[in-house]
Amino acid sequence: MNPKQWVCVVCGYNMIGEMPDVCPFCGARHDKFVTAEEAAQTYTVTPQSVNENVTQLMSVPRLGIEHAAYRIETEEGAVWIDCPSAFNRTLEPVRAIYFTHKDFMGASNQYREYWGAKVNIHALDAAHPLARPFPIDHEFSGDFTEYGIEAFHIGGHTPGFTMYVYRDVLFVCDYAFPPGPKMRLNPFSPEDEIRARASRVVELISERPLKTVCGYNYVAEFDGWCTDFKRLVA
Ligand SMILES: [Zn+2]
Repeated sequence: MNPKQWVCVVCGYNMIGEMPDVCPFCGARHDKFVTAEEAAQTYTVTPQSVNENVTQLMSVPRLGIEHAAYRIETEEGAVWIDCPSAFNRTLEPVRAIYFTHKDFMGASNQYREYWGAKVNIHALDAAHPLARPFPIDHEFSGDFTEYGIEAFHIGGHTPGFTMYVYRDVLFVCDYAFPPGPKMRLNPFSPEDEIRARASRVVELISERPLKTVCGYNYVAEFDGWCTDFKRLVA
């Protein structure tokens, strides 16, 4: 384990190496930082079942604005979509971590080292200064399928934003929220870009027999989510 690592309890961003004065992600002052070891002891990454193959992982207590990660049990082994901010050694290992985007890479460097998990993120997001301290095994570009999981490069919220589909589950992190009639496209995005790219999301999800949407802090039934999402793009 890296001897020096800090976690901002406002946003969950992990800082590898010397402690900076302010959080590079959210700007909180360093009195809001704990060591990664303290974070590991304070925050318990807690699984919640989504269906027979998918589990949501979130910290208890909540670690700032940390985004949910998801574990998928595939026929070729378990993987994560996104990564918790706290490093809990008691979690079941995964073989790979696939990121939706660069904002919440959590403790992926520690899980990677501990389990040998392969870290994957789109090359356009890997190039961002916030992502650069994190070791990455595969910088992908475009769409691909691995572990039976389909990855689609969408862009919009971040240049490399990628959504994933496993069987009847869609993983969209924070592209749009909250579920329901108040849904908005992520406001921390270039507005024209996220709207333009969202039309590809509509195309892709219209072709697939989806049942469930896994978001950054919610799990929603697909049909209602899809209706609200299409309204944002129309
Ligand atoms: Zn922060």
